[in-house]
Amino acid sequence: MKPLDISHETPVGLKRRARKTYRVLQETYPYARAELDFETPLQLLVATILSAQTTDVGVNKVTPELFRRFPDAAALAGADRTEMEELLRPTGFYRAKTNSVINLGAALVERFDGEVPGRLKDLVTLPGVGRKTANVVLGNAFGVPGITVDTHFGRLVRRFGWTELTDPVEVEHAVGELFPRKDWTMLSHVVIFHGRRICHAKRPACGACPIARWCPSYGIGETDPALAEKLLKFEKAPGAAPFPGTEAAGAATPAATRPAPGRGDEPHRSAGARLAPAGRRHLPRRHGAGAAHRPPAGRSRVGGAHAVRAGARGRGAHR
Ligand code: SF4
Repeated sequence: MKPLDISHETPVGLKRRARKTYRVLQETYPYARAELDFETPLQLLVATILSAQTTDVGVNKVTPELFRRFPDAAALAGADRTEMEELLRPTGFYRAKTNSVINLGAALVERFDGEVPGRLKDLVTLPGVGRKTANVVLGNAFGVPGITVDTHFGRLVRRFGWTELTDPVEVEHAVGELFPRKDWTMLSHVVIFHGRRICHAKRPACGACPIARWCPSYGIGETDPALAEKLLKFEKAPGAAPFPGTEAAGAATPAATRPAPGRGDEPHRSAGARLAPAGRRHLPRRHGAGAAHRPPAGRSRVGGAHAVRAGARGRGAHR
């Protein structure tokens, strides 16, 4: 298969292709959602700040104890720095993250009565909170549509040929123009899921990709279906059952779907990964090669509405 030629694609054609791609990603990842564990807007805000330079799985390992010891903004503001640093050490950059979290708690107490504000313009005034973090919180804790341009999202939309822009805010606006506002949050989720599981930064699994037909970058990664399937991976929450219906990690799981030894929290999935979530067989054949991915059966999450923005290739429309 040759990569799609988009050199003569019109703006209307781009929008149609982008929406088709999104539909297939939705079919592929119907369980997509924020992968950080949280129960309140404050917990999501803190977890998102901690997720810088580390994985969501890594953050989910430290936040239960963090939130138990420091359950609200006032507790965060008054935290013992050494105690918090020890808790956050596994996430990396723990001194800077401790500063951010303590300062965040103080700012919330001083300016917002200890509550997380539900507006972008307020959120971005908080210590350690940029536009990306604010959109994650708005989309997942407040149900306000927004696009989260993280490293996966930016890389993938450029590979998809949806935009050539690199500035995250310009990417957010450009991609936002391609989709209805109501789709922005879920668009963020499914694109980020795809980046984590199939379209990796270094070795994208093009030969196992359900949207290869609509991707002008097909072929930058492994195109042999069997070899590509070996590149598939997913994050698994610690202690979670590897797949729905199994009782615990390592329980009776089909051999072909067991995490590869030594892969830690991001086990590779082998050829058996075709089993679809919720009993569905994903990736209809008409969409090309590929393997569906089960969701990690992690702890419960709150929220779900996510918001996303999209934009036109090479152009940046501004909100
Ligand atoms: S894995 Fe390959 S074909 Fe699929 S989106 Fe990424 S670059 Fe395109």
